[in-house]
Amino acid sequence: MSKHQFQTEVSQLLHLIIHSLYSHKEIFLRELISNASDALDKLKYLTLTQDEFKKLTFDPRVDISYTEGDKPTLTVSDNGIGMNEEDLVENLGTIARSGTKNFLGKLTGDAKKDSNLIGQFGVGFYSSFMVADSVEVISRKAGEDTAYKWVSDGKGAYEITPAERESFGTTVTLHLNEEGKEYTGRWQIEQVIKKYSNHVAFPIFLHYTATEYEGEGEKRKEKKEQKVEQINSASAMWKRPKSELSDEDYKEFYKTLTHDYDEPLFWLHTQAEGTQEYTTLFYVPKKAPFDLYQADYKPGVKLYVKRVFITDDEKELLPVYLRFVRGIIDSEDLPLNVSREILQQNRILSSITGSSAKKLLSEFQRIAENNPEMYTEFIEQFNRPLKEGLYSDFANRETLLELVRFKSTEVEGYTSLKAYKERMKEDQKGIYYITGEKEETLRNSPLLEAYKAKGIEVLVMDDEIDEIVVPSIGKYEEIDLKAINKSGSSDDLKTEDDKKKEKEIKPLIKKIKDALGDKVKDVVASSRLSDSPSCIVADESDPSMQMQQMLKAMGQ
Ligand code: ADP
Ligand code: MG
Repeated sequence: MSKHQFQTEVSQLLHLIIHSLYSHKEIFLRELISNASDALDKLKYLTLTQDEFKKLTFDPRVDISYTEGDKPTLTVSDNGIGMNEEDLVENLGTIARSGTKNFLGKLTGDAKKDSNLIGQFGVGFYSSFMVADSVEVISRKAGEDTAYKWVSDGKGAYEITPAERESFGTTVTLHLNEEGKEYTGRWQIEQVIKKYSNHVAFPIFLHYTATEYEGEGEKRKEKKEQKVEQINSASAMWKRPKSELSDEDYKEFYKTLTHDYDEPLFWLHTQAEGTQEYTTLFYVPKKAPFDLYQADYKPGVKLYVKRVFITDDEKELLPVYLRFVRGIIDSEDLPLNVSREILQQNRILSSITGSSAKKLLSEFQRIAENNPEMYTEFIEQFNRPLKEGLYSDFANRETLLELVRFKSTEVEGYTSLKAYKERMKEDQKGIYYITGEKEETLRNSPLLEAYKAKGIEVLVMDDEIDEIVVPSIGKYEEIDLKAINKSGSSDDLKTEDDKKKEKEIKPLIKKIKDALGDKVKDVVASSRLSDSPSCIVADESDPSMQMQQMLKAMGQ
């Protein structure tokens, strides 16, 4: 027997889960089933690609059973890949992803939000301790002879001992506490499975005891019988014809896929045939994933080949700026045993990636045109990644330019560049914008005065990414984009009269220059002010500090 302490983060996390998520305790079952399904995916893949596993008799399934009484238990069992002693220590005693601290910091105390994060973050196993005083895991790794038992009460330590298991796979037994004892009824368990795990690709069986009555009157006898019933639909739903699928099916699958509590904002299901055969099902969530701006974000798209799960840890299945999209890609043409290296330069895959990005962008555009309200919701969450796309996806720049939105001095909410262009004055020489950190400061900037006076609209860019992205755009439909807080742009506003006056004040400017010396690069007469006497601007050719930091953050 060996005794182990949980990694500090695990203890912290356990404490948090138990104390902040009890109102959503039912998610524990979703997490256990999702782990079982992952384990089945992994073994299925091996049986199709590795000689030593090909001869295995493998009939993938998840079995759930329970016992009532004063020591109630709930058991989730799978015949998946299993874990050996090392795996148990590694997987059920530590947290592998480096963003754990970030995660812990993100917990808000709001149970609904937090339980969502737990799912997204993949710390699901520990949620068992919400409903159990102790948890027992008996596992045997496929291809190995020994089984091990992992036991813990979730209070800082766990024990591992050798154990017996007839065949490969994992059995998780929960010794249910007061919170958990309601999950010892057929109906309750079925409800939770249907709600969260209906679209898990493997069959989930529930074992229960049915009471039947035989005979009539005095002779009536109670008969107990063990029954097994498959609860979920267990199909790769994305392969079913679109005409057979209801909105409800799509929403349910989204929940199975992402563990998100919210419904998706919209989805896009494509079944491509022809030179290449593949299916994609993409979802845009209502809220941006919490790790959207973290370097170690979890990719949202899973890759399947002929319905066999290949990976969910590949960041290049869609362009990086679309990393907020959730979903699956299932190819009929890729080989099953694609290594990571091969994946990254595979022509089949890169063509799927390319056309998926295009399809998604045109779907965004369709929504912008047909459903402005939904598009606003979308923009509020994902404007910034789209702007990243302007910087990184040249092939789709035209479309992205139509999709991004900006604040403006003339309209409430957001405007597109197209709408700005339609509002432009006849002799207006450019699309003007002002960048900076705070919207309020920008809106009150003295730099805007002259534009206001002339009735010229200025885009208000307070998103830090604007600084890098917008200058790189250059033009929108042949019209220059001009930063009004860079020195050159105000020349546009000069009238003949202004130019005459500029000559007249030359001697004054010289005096000011002499007085300021090295503190400024230049002093010039400006036509951009109408009420304020002076202002400081950046030189056109100087990259701003902000820009340099942003570039670093984006890893460019
Ligand atoms: P995640 O599933 O996001 O990795 P979990 O806390 O749910 O996080 O599980 C932690 C790890 O434990 C899994 O990644 C997996 O390696 C292992 N694990 C959990 N349940 C099983 C199981 N039924 N079979 C095999 N491995 C499992
Ligand atoms: Mg899990």
